[in-house]
Amino acid sequence: MPLAKPANVSKPVLSQFQLNGKVAAVTGGARGIGLEVVRALAEAGAQVALIYTSSKDADATAKKISSETGSTVKTYQSDVRVKETITSTINQIAKDFGKLDICVANAGIASHYDSLEYTVEQWQDIMKVNLDGAMYTAQAAGKIFKEQGPGAGSMIFTASVSATLVNVPQRQAAYNASKAAVVHLAKCLAVEWVDFGRVNCISPGFIETDMLSVHPKEWRDHWSLLVPAGRNADPAELKGAYVFLASDASSYMTGANIVIDGGYTLP
Ligand code: NAD
Repeated sequence: MPLAKPANVSKPVLSQFQLNGKVAAVTGGARGIGLEVVRALAEAGAQVALIYTSSKDADATAKKISSETGSTVKTYQSDVRVKETITSTINQIAKDFGKLDICVANAGIASHYDSLEYTVEQWQDIMKVNLDGAMYTAQAAGKIFKEQGPGAGSMIFTASVSATLVNVPQRQAAYNASKAAVVHLAKCLAVEWVDFGRVNCISPGFIETDMLSVHPKEWRDHWSLLVPAGRNADPAELKGAYVFLASDASSYMTGANIVIDGGYTLP
């Protein structure tokens, strides 16, 4: 079966970006990039499931976005590292909302260790969230997309520019390897899922979130000097790209990796 062509491709272009009637799930949705993705999808008209691990603000945040956008935003506590847990969360979301059209595997963690000194636990901590968790989230969503039929789903992974380059100073081998694997995973799934969904990545550069602040300040200052745009990004500057990939505006895009980095990877 060929990649589905949505009925509204012949309509005015802005209507192709509308997500009215669609249902989305976003992991790592309570803060940082994920929170802006939840807001963006709700603003574009989708009903959104905000998936979080631990956040005392998740319910209040969901309520606020709901009242500001008029879209339903519901919270679900889960852990992407545990296949049974994230699978039952995604299944519950599809049951509660009646379907699932968009899934954003955004949860991630960063850390730095000397590559000669990684313990098994330190290596696995990163891989379990960034790679295993992304795969478990996608597997659960993909099964629902498949059941729903041709053209049913849009799967989006938050990868990173670290998938393709090495920041100096370094000591992020596990993080970088996990994100490189996610970009390639997305390409593999894009080909396997062509009957029932599209699969793409967004690779942010330096985005001002809690994650960026875990790096030593001198590293961050050094990296910032290397960004041709002259500054790091506000996470809200990624919203348009997620809505684009979630929507029919990107109906012929699958297996792609959109880099949003203020030109960091260009030199
Ligand atoms: P963040 O630390 O604010 O958000 C990470 C989110 O992942 C949090 O909501 C956290 O609760 C969630 N999470 C962590 N472990 C989890 C688990 N086991 N199960 C479910 N959720 C879990 O950082 P962020 O910058 O918003 O990161 C979001 C994504 O963007 C990550 O995948 C990150 O690798 C990626 N990214 C960030 C940057 C950046 O500069 N901030 C750059 C490139 C890529």
